[in-house]
Amino acid sequence: MARPKLKNTHYDSLILGGGVAGLSASIYTIRSGMSTLVVEGELVSNTEVPGGALMLTESIENFPGYSGTGEGLIEKLREQADEFGVERTEAMALSLDADVNTDGYVSASISEYGGEPVTVYAKTIIISTGAVSRKLGVPGEDEFFGRGVSTCATCDGWAYEGKTVSVVGGGDTAIEDALYLAKNTQHVNLYVRGEKLRTNSPESRLLLSRENITVHWNTQVATVNPSEDGNKLGSVTLLQSGNKVDSQIDGLFVAVGRDPNTAFLLESKVRLDDHGYVVTDSEHRVGTSTNTFAPNIFAVGDVADAKYVQAITAAGDAVKAAIASYEYTLHEDTERAQVEAESLSA
Ligand code: NAP
Repeated sequence: MARPKLKNTHYDSLILGGGVAGLSASIYTIRSGMSTLVVEGELVSNTEVPGGALMLTESIENFPGYSGTGEGLIEKLREQADEFGVERTEAMALSLDADVNTDGYVSASISEYGGEPVTVYAKTIIISTGAVSRKLGVPGEDEFFGRGVSTCATCDGWAYEGKTVSVVGGGDTAIEDALYLAKNTQHVNLYVRGEKLRTNSPESRLLLSRENITVHWNTQVATVNPSEDGNKLGSVTLLQSGNKVDSQIDGLFVAVGRDPNTAFLLESKVRLDDHGYVVTDSEHRVGTSTNTFAPNIFAVGDVADAKYVQAITAAGDAVKAAIASYEYTLHEDTERAQVEAESLSA
């Protein structure tokens, strides 16, 4: 159900992204007395609802204190945020202007329900727009997503104890996923589309020495096929050096890279790395590792993290950013009050 449009144009905290990171941040900013707007997005990956990557997660077993669906966790976070008075809008961020105006605000342009762009001003901005896992784009992949097909070994690997799984990709993520899955599964196949891995890291050498991991070179997945009852993935058809081969597997982990949702930042001063992730560091005045180039603009969760990519790490970083946002506004308010006091006494 569509919620009412924006109540204000000025907020203490503007949070771009309504997944686990953005909602976690909002609970902290609002509780520190900052008026808070969460721009939740509209279309995320292949869902048609906002809420981020967790909306695609069937089952969460590794978020401390919570067990259930990803959507269930997002619902709980929304309820908690709403209770404290966070405003949320189903809108997309279109651009971000990091120049602080004379009143101490930066701004972002957003579009609600695909409507005309609106400028929202805020003392601080937390970017938490997430990333989308790349897909293979083959028949059956979407149909069996969450029913044998996954993009997160750490999240879903536990379900395949003693079974045979396959990982697609030849980069660091695929290597880490294969090693992670090999600990509990009977056998892991790694499908690499070329003749070599992307990296010569110690992990890649370990991978090649593991007995229960087989690397299949020049191999691509052509189709994802159903099990006998049609309810889940049962096998894949592979294209191996031009030949079609069927292989029965229990799980398929797609690790062919991720695309951070940062297109709206391309014209901004927020720095992106070569893969499009927001660059954060701890060099700033009121900084934590969640700061971007500016002390009042933060980035948390998958949009700034190519390594950990966990709901709990996103939530943890979000809380750091929320506290740093509060400290920034406190510092700015104190400075302003001092300047005013000095001008009155002059
Ligand atoms: P990546 O480095 O972009 O590698 C993607 C892999 O997927 C490549 O091997 C690519 O093959 C393959 N691929 C792409 N599309 C495919 C398709 N349609 N079918 C089959 N294979 C396909 O992605 P990533 O591994 O997720 O890593 C992303 C970044 O995060 C990298 O910079 C990586 O170093 C970093 N990272 C670091 C760590 C760490 O430091 N521990 C952990 C994870 C990730 P080709 O090689 O043939 O192009």
